[in-house]
Amino acid sequence: AERPYIVGNWKMNGTRAMLSEARAIDRAAQRYMKVEVAVAPPYTLIHAVHREAEQIGVGAQDCHPGAEGAHTGDISASMIADAGAKFVILGHSERRQDHGETGELINAKIESALESGLRVILCCGETLDTRDAGKAESYVLKQIEIALPLFEDPGERLTIAYEPIWAIGTGRTATTDDIASMHGAIRELLVKTYGEEASAQVRILYGGSVKPDNAREILATPEVGGALVGGASLSAESFLGIVVGAS
Ligand code: 13P
Repeated sequence: AERPYIVGNWKMNGTRAMLSEARAIDRAAQRYMKVEVAVAPPYTLIHAVHREAEQIGVGAQDCHPGAEGAHTGDISASMIADAGAKFVILGHSERRQDHGETGELINAKIESALESGLRVILCCGETLDTRDAGKAESYVLKQIEIALPLFEDPGERLTIAYEPIWAIGTGRTATTDDIASMHGAIRELLVKTYGEEASAQVRILYGGSVKPDNAREILATPEVGGALVGGASLSAESFLGIVVGAS
């Protein structure tokens, strides 16, 4: 059905030495045209990776909600678009935790990203405490609901990434049953909001300790439209192992 979407989130990793990995990923991705492959390097490498990339998409990991101005150290959506980014990851749990990002701020960033013509990967996910309290689903749906009104007809401009916080960088993945049930609930919310047809193009990615050896099983889970990959996206070899698992 839909084309799987495999996105590497490099987080705060990568110097120019990583450009050879980006090149290797790009060249190999040309052999897996049925998979949409993208990477989100740190700001400092967006333009350089964009120049290397013939096949893969390049995006950013965040943006400021404003267009320009006196905000020392910040980068706007239009600036990353100008550097060659086609999408931006917003609302990652590390941004929410490290920088106190609220739903309101994430909303403002989404609006700015859409105005700059960027696609948005909206991240959501619960802590272990929230899951153990049986509130994971309501928590995650609330995170998404806050953001959705900004998309009139989302189409391919919106991707959701479900990343349970306790599975990020821990080597511990959610069970495929847990993933299927959360993704199913997210799909229901999308259908309720946009209708069957308009929401069909919105892919729901899973993120959290996706590796070459578990990728195939996770990607075969119902309603999993791809993966958002942290640690395993930092080498071409392991990232491509996941791309192969999606093909
Ligand atoms: P890991 O793949 O390192 O667990 O990170 C997941 C993630 O946060 C991707 O955005």
